[in-house]
Amino acid sequence: MNNKKLMIITIIVVVVAVAAIVILTKKINQSDQENVQVEQPNIENQPTLGMEDAPVSIVEFGDYKCPGCKAWTERVFPQLEKDYIKNGDVKLSYVNVLFHGDESFRAALASESVFKQDPEAFWDFHEGLYQAQPATQQHDEKWVTTEKLLEIAKETVPNIDLDQLEKDIEEQGTKAEVSIDEQLVQKHNIESTPSVIVNGVLVKDPFDYEAISNLIEKGLK
Ligand code: CA
Repeated sequence: MNNKKLMIITIIVVVVAVAAIVILTKKINQSDQENVQVEQPNIENQPTLGMEDAPVSIVEFGDYKCPGCKAWTERVFPQLEKDYIKNGDVKLSYVNVLFHGDESFRAALASESVFKQDPEAFWDFHEGLYQAQPATQQHDEKWVTTEKLLEIAKETVPNIDLDQLEKDIEEQGTKAEVSIDEQLVQKHNIESTPSVIVNGVLVKDPFDYEAISNLIEKGLK
């Protein structure tokens, strides 16, 4: 009888302990997935799509050499544009990140040159760059050359001054603008790309459209 009692008590203790561990682990995982409150980056002189007085501001930190950024631009960005940017709820800014060395730098110099010449044309060139990025498995291959950048510009933003663009890439004419972006990356401790900040909240998973959408809705209230 005593043995039986002891066994039952032991079973209860084990069950409670396991349940506690499960609940605790779940809580830790949940907090891992939570979005982090951060400072909203300064978007002065950054390409910004949408209405200037939009109540919600999104900043994307991206790298033209990063496959995740290509995927974000092709999958999440169009949805955002359709649901929130076109109707004036959201404005979206883009900041360059240079995690893939010389090619990231070259693409950033070019994008800043296009933006400087024609802010409206920036987004066509921006999308053209990501479209030109080779499929994920070959992303380590070198593809960002001055020639390639000029070719993309010719196709997507034919009205800009291509000689000026070439000069800005080859002679690093837009280095100062790229440096401002690098400072933002440091200031906001950006560790991966794409990083997406919605009204001062760093989204844990930038591909979680529901999470982004929830943050936007919160900002619209
Ligand atoms: Ca910039």
